[in-house]
Amino acid sequence: MKKKFIVVLGGGESGIGAALLAKKNGLKIFLSDSGIILNKYKKILVENQIPFEEKGHTENMILKAIKVIKSPGISRENILIKKINFLGIPIISELEFGKSYLNSSYIISITGSNGKTTTSSIVYQILKKDGFHVGIAGNIGNSFSKEVLKKKEFYVLEVSSFQLDDCFNFRSNIAVLLNITRDHLNIYKNFQGYISSKFRIVTNQNKEDIFIYNYDDPIIKKELKKYKILSHCIPFSIKEELKVGAYIKWNNIFFRKKKNKKEICLLNIEKISLKGDHNLYNILASVIISKILNVKKKSIIHSLLDFSPIEHRMEKVLNINGVQFINDSKATNVNAVFYALKSMNSPTIWIVGGKDKGNDYSELLPLVKKKVKFIIFLGKKNKKFINFFQDFIDIIIITECLKNAVRIAYILSMPGDNILLSPACSSLDIFKDYKERGHKFKQEVKKIFYEKNRYFF
Ligand code: ADP
Repeated sequence: MKKKFIVVLGGGESGIGAALLAKKNGLKIFLSDSGIILNKYKKILVENQIPFEEKGHTENMILKAIKVIKSPGISRENILIKKINFLGIPIISELEFGKSYLNSSYIISITGSNGKTTTSSIVYQILKKDGFHVGIAGNIGNSFSKEVLKKKEFYVLEVSSFQLDDCFNFRSNIAVLLNITRDHLNIYKNFQGYISSKFRIVTNQNKEDIFIYNYDDPIIKKELKKYKILSHCIPFSIKEELKVGAYIKWNNIFFRKKKNKKEICLLNIEKISLKGDHNLYNILASVIISKILNVKKKSIIHSLLDFSPIEHRMEKVLNINGVQFINDSKATNVNAVFYALKSMNSPTIWIVGGKDKGNDYSELLPLVKKKVKFIIFLGKKNKKFINFFQDFIDIIIITECLKNAVRIAYILSMPGDNILLSPACSSLDIFKDYKERGHKFKQEVKKIFYEKNRYFF
């Protein structure tokens, strides 16, 4: 390869998208992955004549690139990344690379420890319903660069802290910070590092932009004071009536655009099928975005009425003989479980566990004492968890088998109980990812259902 070329590091969703966008724009490109590239992605590379390698990096080639596009999954501590930095080869994120090919599209970026996928999906649904020419991309599993090829007028982007870590100039017209709670502490050196990463969503904005944030989040409120924020800030709260922003009053959603302006009442929250305080936050953030973009009130209301929980997020699976099974496999940190338990209205058998990411369980204790009958720990390393809860819950069952977890939970249950899979941990000790864990949970629940009802089939 003699001509100047750029390298894409990582052959997952974002890397493949970046490679495609580069290729379609006539750039010479080489993709390299230290692991195995999935067949569906290899097919795209071959079809588009993009040279690539897998299961290792050819360093002497990569280090001759004029630019490197790095996938968010690759750590900045990676030895190859350090060498690239040392040689002064510019490293650019997939988000920034994608955006460099857009002229005037409007970018709505959504981040937070929890609620990114739900909020991005709500906003996308509302904008689509109102007739916007809109795409959805980012951490939701859809490469932004690939979407850029479709040249949409609006983009809703779910943005993770790892993506933000790689962004230095990425500017969003609307940036949303839903919440900041302890997560990924196995990767960030300290909590402050993670907080700073989240705030990168706002620090590149300018005075024409909008920053939407959670007024009830103590960490966001405290950190906001440290930054010189140029954008126009609009908060949301489920606890206080705000002078500007979105809030809940008399069980209704309200929005006020400017101080001293009349408030607008949108909808009674009882009518919405997404339940739980956490979802109210997601909805309020979505309402602010919609109002800023002048979406019609009826499009907002109809979208919110139609929206049901996304798979693996407080997803009601089946009710078997009065026992409700709930799949919240995506609850991979303590705060997500906090809201899951908070929304339980009847005695709960809690299936929890997996790969701990530096969890502090104390926040959960009052809720566990109040709502949880039995705990079933599903995972390989249980010591820390058991030490924490053993004095408060009489029965804690330990297993590494999901089938056993589901069956034991059902045997222990009584009509009226909930069986909640809400792990507070990543799934990687036993499963490929949270999706596999959730699917297997649902399969096991369905098996019990068919066994109980076999005479009817
Ligand atoms: P993310 O994309 O940030 O991981 P999701 O919308 O996929 O967020 O939800 C992940 C988990 O967090 C689920 O268990 C869900 O019930 C919970 N959750 C959703 N929104 C919030 C929120 N605003 N605050 C706390 N937990 C939330």
